[in-house]
Amino acid sequence: MTTTPGRHPHPDHHSRPHRVVVIGSGFGGLFGTRALRRRDDVEITLVARTAQHLFQPLLYQVATGILSEGEIAPSTREVLARQKNARVILGEVTDIDLEARTVTSELLGQRTVSEYDTLLVAAGAGQSWFGHDEFAEFAPGMKSVDDALELRGRIFGAFEIAELATTDEDVRRALTFVVVGAGPTGVEMAGQIAELASRTLKHDFRRIDPTQAHVILLDAADTVLPSFGERLGGAARRRLTEMGVDVRTGSMVTDVDESGLTYKDREGHEVRVEALTKMWAAGVQASPLGRQLAEQSDAELDRAGRVKVDPDLTLPGHPEVFVVGDMISLDDLPGVAQVAIQGARFAAKQVTHRLDGRPTDERFTYRDKGSMATVSRFSAVASIGRLRFSGFVAWLLWLGVHIVYIIGFKNRVTTLLHWAVSFLGRGRAERVATEQQVFARRAIKAAGEDLRDAG
Ligand SMILES: Cc1cc2nc3c(=O)[nH]c(=O)nc-3n(C[C@H](O)[C@H](O)[C@H](O)COP(=O)(O)OP(=O)(O)OC[C@H]3O[C@@H](n4cnc5c(N)ncnc54)[C@H](O)[C@@H]3O)c2cc1C
Repeated sequence: MTTTPGRHPHPDHHSRPHRVVVIGSGFGGLFGTRALRRRDDVEITLVARTAQHLFQPLLYQVATGILSEGEIAPSTREVLARQKNARVILGEVTDIDLEARTVTSELLGQRTVSEYDTLLVAAGAGQSWFGHDEFAEFAPGMKSVDDALELRGRIFGAFEIAELATTDEDVRRALTFVVVGAGPTGVEMAGQIAELASRTLKHDFRRIDPTQAHVILLDAADTVLPSFGERLGGAARRRLTEMGVDVRTGSMVTDVDESGLTYKDREGHEVRVEALTKMWAAGVQASPLGRQLAEQSDAELDRAGRVKVDPDLTLPGHPEVFVVGDMISLDDLPGVAQVAIQGARFAAKQVTHRLDGRPTDERFTYRDKGSMATVSRFSAVASIGRLRFSGFVAWLLWLGVHIVYIIGFKNRVTTLLHWAVSFLGRGRAERVATEQQVFARRAIKAAGEDLRDAG
């Protein structure tokens, strides 16, 4: 069945609302839609393949049992319920036709075609295993709620397997956790697994000692948190080392399998690590929709598949198409939430200026509001303008900023409660791993078979 939700019955072009189609319900898509909320003359159709707006910066807390998935992923429909000029459609966008000005999406075999006057593409980026997609099965990435829940299953499951293991070697393998990529996500994950082992699970097992868990943070680069500069990267590295995290920089992963991984060290020697749980936080690849845009226009793609947009965030030759967030390549802008939010608000402003017959801005200017990463409870690093903070002050800043950006009052309250439980106490409220976390279960099952064979 084909429907045209964006089509308006009025034949008179000038009297019908201006149709904006937004692709994505992440930071770019949601903030762009909200920026147009006061315009009665605009009709927005937001198409996304998940029914939620995902707050990716806190995915690592879902993976390590601090927060529930609902707290970081409110329903987009609920968030936009009062915005009468916006309609939400669930579906995977399969086709963008720049000439016909349509977006085709699919849900369970049902095709929907949405017509647009202006298109805002904010489809984000996925994980990249640098040409080794086969690693993904053993070292999942961290981009979606599914990824976080799968990792939760693997992390908590590894302690269960260790408790059952009969040889020291198997216990060691089950209690070794390798995080690949020492950017913010990798640092946060490594710190959280270390804290989970040393605080939360400390008294929960009878045969194993969870505090003996070995957390390894690997990166091909020589520094931790390179985008934060030497001083803060060094502070994060020291804090991680104090917590017992084994930081191995200058280490390039060459192979990943069920029972461990291999990397090349600085001297070019191959090193093998036996580890049941691996996670990948190393590379990104822009949405494949970028390629569709490039193939139909003069836009080029960079190596990560990002679209080289014009300075006003439009597609070359297509002033009616804006591309924002993780999908764009412009002035070395980083793949962070603020680039997506500010880009989407800028695009919305251009749309309203055009409708009002006012001059539009020639270029998008990004205001860097700073960046931060937590290393452990009460310890973070933050870089704001020329100011650099590390330790407790940075952690307080992190706390404040995240509370402001979490969507919805209810989510703020429950998140704060969960943080109190985990940071002031030892507990983690969200340790459930269900039957449906199939891959995690499969990995645990395979490891169990290995154990039986060995026994
Ligand atoms: C684990 C992690 C931690 C992070 N931590 C931080 C941080 O601390 N600070 C920070 O500033 N940034 C952080 N980031 C980066 C930040 O989340 C991104 O820069 C931001 O989400 C980009 O926004 P976006 O709108 O471009 O894409 P996204 O927020 O990724 O949204 C993309 C949207 O498009 C939808 N979509 C994709 N393809 C299709 C399709 N074919 N059809 C329909 N819908 C589609 C997706 O479902 C999603 O709704 C982190 C990212 C990750 C993964």
